[in-house]
Amino acid sequence: MAARPTPYLDDLNPAQREAVETLDGPVLMLAGAGTGKTKALTSRIVHLLNTGRARPNEILSVTFTNKAAREMKTRVGRMLGETVEGMPWMGTFHAICVKLLRRHAELVGLKSNFTILDMDDQLRLLKQLVRASNIDEKRWPPRQLAGLIDSWKNRAWTPAHVPAAEASAYNNRGTELYDQYQRRLLELNAVDFGDLLLHMVTIFQSHDDVLSQYQRWFKYILVDEYQDTNVAQYLWLRLLAGGHKNICCVGDDDQSIYGWRGAEVGNILRFEKDFPGAKVVRLEQNYRSTPHILSAASAVIRGNEGRLGKELWTEAEEGEKLRLIGHWDGDEEARWVGDEIEAMQRGTRGMAPFGLDTMAILVRASHQMRAFEDRFLTIGLPYRVIGGPRFYERLEIRDAMAYFRLAVSPADDLAFERIINTPKRGLGDKAQQKIQMTARDHGVPLLDGARILLQQAGISGKGAGQLRLFIEGMDRWGGLVNSPDLSHMDLAGMILDESGYTEMWQNDKTPEAPGRLENLKELVKALENFENLQGFLEHVSLIMDNEKETDGEKVSVMTLHAAKGLEFPAVFLPGWEDGLFPSQRSMDETGRKGLEEERRLAYVGITRAEQVCTISFAGNRRVFGQWQSQLPSRFIDELPAKDVEVLTPPGLYGGGFGAAVQSTVDVRASEADGYDSPGWKRMQSRASSRPMSQPRETRSSVIDAEAISAFAIGERVFNQKYGYGEVLGIEGNKLEVAFDKSGIKKVVASFLSTPDD
Ligand code: ATP
Ligand code: MG
Repeated sequence: MAARPTPYLDDLNPAQREAVETLDGPVLMLAGAGTGKTKALTSRIVHLLNTGRARPNEILSVTFTNKAAREMKTRVGRMLGETVEGMPWMGTFHAICVKLLRRHAELVGLKSNFTILDMDDQLRLLKQLVRASNIDEKRWPPRQLAGLIDSWKNRAWTPAHVPAAEASAYNNRGTELYDQYQRRLLELNAVDFGDLLLHMVTIFQSHDDVLSQYQRWFKYILVDEYQDTNVAQYLWLRLLAGGHKNICCVGDDDQSIYGWRGAEVGNILRFEKDFPGAKVVRLEQNYRSTPHILSAASAVIRGNEGRLGKELWTEAEEGEKLRLIGHWDGDEEARWVGDEIEAMQRGTRGMAPFGLDTMAILVRASHQMRAFEDRFLTIGLPYRVIGGPRFYERLEIRDAMAYFRLAVSPADDLAFERIINTPKRGLGDKAQQKIQMTARDHGVPLLDGARILLQQAGISGKGAGQLRLFIEGMDRWGGLVNSPDLSHMDLAGMILDESGYTEMWQNDKTPEAPGRLENLKELVKALENFENLQGFLEHVSLIMDNEKETDGEKVSVMTLHAAKGLEFPAVFLPGWEDGLFPSQRSMDETGRKGLEEERRLAYVGITRAEQVCTISFAGNRRVFGQWQSQLPSRFIDELPAKDVEVLTPPGLYGGGFGAAVQSTVDVRASEADGYDSPGWKRMQSRASSRPMSQPRETRSSVIDAEAISAFAIGERVFNQKYGYGEVLGIEGNKLEVAFDKSGIKKVVASFLSTPDD
């Protein structure tokens, strides 16, 4: 048979070709971002098929996300054209394990039509077990047990394998409850997410015949993003590859960002031990980014210890420097990014126009998305959120909004139904049915129906007391909706706190809970831009209504975690401030582990950009309802001055802040003692603590940090929202002001000006 042409090999450099053409035996491709690891992996699949080494279903290719699997399928399909029938096994660990487990379910006591539980189902089940074993749920929240079990499954520990050292977990009952939970799942013919891998590992370990069947079947195994595999995934791979040993893993230790979910970067380092004689290929040429972007990313990641260490180079043309810009606050940052995206779409600063599809905003924490989504909806900029729901569609946000809606309109039955038993008030299905019937009989809304039911003593026990509290709360909050004495932000906070909703998430020990609390804070913050609660609710219902899926180009918004493996011509990286990025948690931690993972995230972020990378930070953010001045991220310190251009958008900032940062960058460029010299730090922190732009009516002296104390008690001041007033007291940068029309309020000094009259 004549050899088939191999045009796809011509697109590869010699190192990539070596990785692609070394078909037999283990291969590890260890290389930095954008060096063509995924491209090589894809070409390898094509080469295996093209050379007739394997039929499609003898190839197993594991990707980290479903999106990555789809992309790989498309690329393989395109490279192969019509020549090969069928497709290889391509998908995430979970997707592949579901397929396998359906075939062998009976070996672990399941039927092949087992159901996969979602988080809510899983939690409900655990709650039942916790309750039945007389554990104090308040002290030992079931969610904590869920997190614990998940982490054990990530380590491939069945109940029998949980080591003795873990015996004290969850009030000494963790292992026992884990065992009960697994039994209950079997009775229900159900699995949770972690089980998909765990069961397959168990089956492979205890059924040699099944294992060797698949070892023979999958002649070639390929794994992308290998640095983020956890122990269970690693064991599964090692078992499967034990036959032919034709396993090709690609990864980058500098991009390991899932340590918090049990990923072990050590798996990469162990590869050569597990697979003796492995061919290790290193790639150093980067094809994605311009030299400035690459140089900046390399400089940041150099701050980590214990790296394998890789140098990257590129032949790409010089291109733009990284752009750095400081903003007054998060809303201003969002406004600027929106404007800049539209400007880049038109073509600005001598750059060719960028399509919306080619631009992405990558945030550290999902609550950061809110400001961008609000802004984009306001200006009609099409966007999509990748890897999660949009802000106003999130569970906790819809719950909180339902509380606000019911306070504003007591007849909102949908809102009532959503929250009557969230948090749990002992008002389950039966109680709710009674409320429904009473309301229907009297022709009144559910809230009034509940009131009548209580009066008729139609409900008893714990539920009755809780229902009374709920109704009283709603009446009280409703009465405060337009109160002159309470801002609608304070009211919103009060509703969430007094209803027990905030507490519900505070007691929640799952990894998602802190993010949900952040989102709730962000929601309260969003209210600030509106006159009152009604105005805000209208805004949200309007934008949600406008949200019919439209085709066409869109800007992408996602977390840094979701951006792994992707690339975009233009990338925006907002919120580079200490405490946000790196996260406060990583900064509080002893040891370097958390901070190093954050730095790898920074590296992932910068290396997503092909041509333009814009980093921004805000000088002020509202934290716990209070304005707080922010320091630029320590990672900004690590950017080489020669690769950075500081932007000062005309009109917005009056030159004050941008000039300050520019001068610090210039200083850094000329300083022999490098970038973390005390002078640079000092200038930077001073720059960040001063307001960068001001409402038009603000006097110009506010730009000086010292101006905060420039107000005196008794002085007349002006605020855009509350109007004129007189200073009653001064507390740091906050002033207590008696406003002529709006009463006494606390206001941050920078939002006040001296009236010109
Ligand atoms: P990451 O670590 O971010 O996942 P990666 O190493 O997987 O990156 P790829 O996504 O495979 O990198 O490749 C990055 C870009 O470089 C892609 O646009 C790819 O098409 C291009 N590329 C890769 N190899 C070559 C090559 N030999 N010649 C030209 N372009 C290439
Ligand atoms: Mg890749």
